Amino acid sequence: ALTTGIVGLPNVGKSTLFNAITQAGAESANYPFCTIDPNVGIVEVPDARLDKLTELVNPKKTIPTAFEFTDIAGIVEGASKGEGLGNKFLSHIRQVDAISHVVRCFADDNITHVSGGVNPLHDIEVINLELILADLESVDKRIGRVAKLAKSRDKEAVAELPVLEQLKETFENEKPARSIDFDEEQMKIVKQLHLLTSKPVLYVANVSEDDLVSDGDNEYVQQVKEFAAAEGSDVIVICAKIEAEIAELEGEEKEMFLEELGIEESGLDQLIRAAYSLLGLETYFTAGEQEVRAWTYRHGTKAPQAAGIIHTDFERGFIRAETVSYDDLVDAGNMVVAKERGRVRLEGKDYIVKDGDVIHFRFNV
Ligand code: GDP
Repeated sequence: ALTTGIVGLPNVGKSTLFNAITQAGAESANYPFCTIDPNVGIVEVPDARLDKLTELVNPKKTIPTAFEFTDIAGIVEGASKGEGLGNKFLSHIRQVDAISHVVRCFADDNITHVSGGVNPLHDIEVINLELILADLESVDKRIGRVAKLAKSRDKEAVAELPVLEQLKETFENEKPARSIDFDEEQMKIVKQLHLLTSKPVLYVANVSEDDLVSDGDNEYVQQVKEFAAAEGSDVIVICAKIEAEIAELEGEEKEMFLEELGIEESGLDQLIRAAYSLLGLETYFTAGEQEVRAWTYRHGTKAPQAAGIIHTDFERGFIRAETVSYDDLVDAGNMVVAKERGRVRLEGKDYIVKDGDVIHFRFNV
C-alpha cells in the first residue's frame, strides 16, 4: 500500500499529530491489507459522497476507504553523513511514497526549539538539505559508473548521463529533484534512481490553538506558504494539540466541537485528503444493499485491476464493469432510473476507472 511519511525536526508536534492519527484510527479489521506496525497509522478517508450514497441505498453497512501514515522519528542535522540514527532515518524515508513535512509555526516558551527559536524556513532547510546531500551522494556514485558506459557509447548510459548531471548541479545549488521540470523520458530515468527529493511533499504548518481559531495565518505560516508555492507544494495548517482532542470525538460530538471552534473541517481531515491526492490515489464505490463501500486505487488503474483490489477472483474472472458516475447516480436518484436514462455503462478490460465511479463488477468464478 502507498504511504506518506510524517517527517520534521524534534519538538515540532509530530508525535502529537501521529497520536491524533492513531486515535482517530480506522478499525483495522476492515482493512486487512494495511500494515500492522506501531509506526503506521491507518486513517479513514473522509468523503461526503459516501454519506450521500448511503442515504440513497440505505445499506446495512457503510465502509470508508483507508490509507496509511508512517511516523518517521527523529531526524538530526548530519543524517546524510550516515551516522547510525541518521542512516536509519533516511532509509525510512526511502520507503515512503510521499512526505508530510511538519513545521513548527507555534511560539511556546516552555517548549524548547532545537535551533533556538521558531524559524520555519530554517527548519525546512535543515531537513531538505539532509535529503539533498544524501541524493547528491547517490547521484555522484552513479555518475562514476554511467560516465564510463557512456564513453563506450552504451545507449542507455548516453541518455542517463545528462539527467544525472542536471540533478547534481541542482543538488549543489541546494534544490530538490522535484524542482526540476523533466520530460517523460527523463522522468523514467529519475524514477529508477529512487531519490529522496523527488518524492512529493506536503508541508504541515503546526500553529497554536489561538492562531487556528483566529483564522488569520500568522507570519510563520505565510513564510511556509511562500516557500511551498515557489516549489509547487501544498500547505495544510493544523493545530496538532487540538487535533488530538478532536480525534477522541466522533459524529455529532465532533461536529459540535468544530462548530464551537468555528472551523468546517478538522485539520487532520484536510491533511488526509491532501496526502491521498498527493499519492495519486482516487476512490471508486460499490453500492449494494448489504454494503456501500469506498475503494482506493491508483490514478490510471484499469477496471480488472480495480476489481482485484476487492478480491483476486474478481480480477481473474473479470467480464465487465457496470459503471455509473457518482453525479449521474445522484441525479437519477437510484440505479433503475440511471439505467433508464442510459447512464449505466458496460465497461471492458481496457476501461480506466475514474474517481467517483460507482461500479458493479461482473465476473466468472
Ligand atoms: P515531536 O518531537 O515533533 O514529536 O513533537 P511533540 O509532538 O512531542 O511535541 C513537542 C511539544 O510541543 C509537546 O510538549 C507538545 O505538547 C507541544 N505541541 C505540539 N503541538 C502543539 C501545538 O499545536 N500547540 C502547542 N502549544 N503545543 C504543541
